[in-house]
Amino acid sequence: MKKISLLGATGSIGWQTYDILCSHSDEFKLVAFSAGKNIEKTKEIINRLKPELVSVQDEVDAKTLQNEFPHTHFTYGTKGLIEVATHPDSTVLVNAVLGSVGLESTLAAIRMSKTIAIANKETLVTAGHLVMAEAKKYNAPILPVDSEHSAIFQAMNGENPKQVERIILTASGGSFRDKTREELKNVTVKDALNHPNWSMGAKITIDSATMMNKGLEVIEANVLFGLPFEKIDVLLHRESIIHSLVEYHDTSVIAQLGTPDMRVPIQYALSYPDRLPLVEGKRLNLAEIGQLHFKEVDFDRYRALKLAYDAGRAGGTVLTAMNAANEAAVALFLQEKITFLQIDEMIEQIMNDHNNILLPDLETILHVDIETRKTVESMVK
Ligand code: MG
Repeated sequence: MKKISLLGATGSIGWQTYDILCSHSDEFKLVAFSAGKNIEKTKEIINRLKPELVSVQDEVDAKTLQNEFPHTHFTYGTKGLIEVATHPDSTVLVNAVLGSVGLESTLAAIRMSKTIAIANKETLVTAGHLVMAEAKKYNAPILPVDSEHSAIFQAMNGENPKQVERIILTASGGSFRDKTREELKNVTVKDALNHPNWSMGAKITIDSATMMNKGLEVIEANVLFGLPFEKIDVLLHRESIIHSLVEYHDTSVIAQLGTPDMRVPIQYALSYPDRLPLVEGKRLNLAEIGQLHFKEVDFDRYRALKLAYDAGRAGGTVLTAMNAANEAAVALFLQEKITFLQIDEMIEQIMNDHNNILLPDLETILHVDIETRKTVESMVK
C-alpha cells in the first residue's frame, strides 16, 4: 500500500488523482492533502478517503472544518502545504498545485526522500536546478505527471539516455490553432477556454492557447531528462494521440500513444513501475481514427514558445521572471483586463528588462517571482 500526500486536490489534476485513489483503494492510501477554497470538494474527499491531515487556503475554513470533522487534523496557508508535503507517513507526494507556490513544499518533501509525482511544471521551470540537485542528494525519484513527459519517460524505459538523439514533444496547438496571429486580436476569454482535446484547468488551457504551456514543457523536459535545448523539438499534432516521441542514435523512434486522458499519466506516476487497469479508460482504436496529422511549429505565430526557448537557453532568474510574468498576465487576461496578445507581449517586455542572475538560490527565485508579478500588475495601471 503506497501512502500518498496530495497538493492541490480540488484542481483538475488533483481531482483526477482523487478519482484514481478511489478506484484503487487497495493500492493507495491518501494520508494528507491540500485544497484551496473549494470546501465542498474538500469535504467529499475527507468523507470518502478519511485522511489524517488536511490543509486549506484560509484559516477561517480550517476552523469551520475542524468543528465538523474532529478526527481529522486541519491546517492552512503556505505552512499547511509544507505540512501536507512532509507528512511523516507518506512516501509519495503528488504535487498538483498551480504555479510556483508548490516550490518550497516540494523541496521539503525531497529532503525527506519521498517520491515526487510532479504535475506542477512551474516548480521545475523556476527552480529546476535546485529541485534536481536536491533530488539527487536525497535520492528522491522525480516522476513526471505531465502527459508529454510521462510519454517520454515511458519511451525511455530501459534505454540508455546517452543514446537519445532528440525528443519530440507533441502539441495540439490549443484552442486557437486554426487562427492566424492577426485573428487573435479580438479573441475572448470564453473562446480561449474552449480546448479541443483536453479537459484542464483555466490557467493551463490559456497556456495551451498561447503555447506557453509547451514552452514550459520544453524547459521541464530539459530539467527532467537532462537534455540540451537543441535536442528538444516541438511538433504540432492536432489529435493528441501520440503523447510524445524519443528518437535514438540508430534512427529508431519510440512513442507512447493513447486516448487523451490525464488519468493515464497520473496513474502511471503512482503505480510505477507497475501498470494498473484504468477504470472506464477508453481504448485507442487507430482504425476508427484513420488519420493523424503533424505540422511544424511556426515560432512567429506562437511567440510564447520562442520566448520559453530563449529563457531556457539563457537559464537563471529569467526563467522565474518569464514564468511569473506569464502567471500574472494570464490572470489579468482571465479577469478581462488585458487582451490575449498582450500576454506574450508582457512576458517579452519583462524578459527584455530583466537583469539575469545565473544559478539563483531559493531566496533570489522567490524575490524575482514576487517582484515580477508586481511589475506586471503595474503595467496595466
Ligand atoms: Mg502537458
